[in-house]
Amino acid sequence: MLPDPIQNLVSALERLPGIGPKTASRLAFFLLRSPEEIPSQLAEALKDLKTKIAFCQECFNITAAGRERCEICDSSQRDGTMICVVEEPLDVLAMERIAAYKGRYHVLQGVLSPIEGIGPDDLKIKPLLERISRGGVQEIILATNPSMEGEATAQYLHPRLQALGVRVTRLARGLPVGGDLEYADQNTLLRALSGRQEMS
Ligand SMILES: [Zn+2]
Repeated sequence: MLPDPIQNLVSALERLPGIGPKTASRLAFFLLRSPEEIPSQLAEALKDLKTKIAFCQECFNITAAGRERCEICDSSQRDGTMICVVEEPLDVLAMERIAAYKGRYHVLQGVLSPIEGIGPDDLKIKPLLERISRGGVQEIILATNPSMEGEATAQYLHPRLQALGVRVTRLARGLPVGGDLEYADQNTLLRALSGRQEMS
């Protein structure tokens, strides 16, 4: 029914999480009638996203395109015996803001969620296990969010990590339940990190 250029945009928007057909058409028509700079800024930002940013092949955090490994993985100042496992790149930023953690990271790029059909193979779990198998890692801090999915993901990882002979800890409670690491205030996060406990 719709002309192709509009239909194509609607179809592309519909593929984004949380956007249904109704919202997709509303956004498409908004862009159609908005001043030229809004759609062109959006187009430019979308183009830059994939050409200028890439994922670190070691920890899967974001890094500049063309780099194999991120600055944290490359830095000799960081303690390679410790890996803090988080859900998203924004969680790395939250941890870095408190400036109390000197180990490295591993970004799962999501959490286990049967409802959304996200299983272990959809996350960066295998590369994590391979990383540990290469040796040198002593402690894994599971810093997935204190949500139902975050807990389930930590519980899934725990025995698999333990089997590799590393110490497995979990951030202390105190983070708001259901809240995101990225929104926790710095003192809360600092306390959760220093009070981390062995998982049982
Ligand atoms: Zn990295």
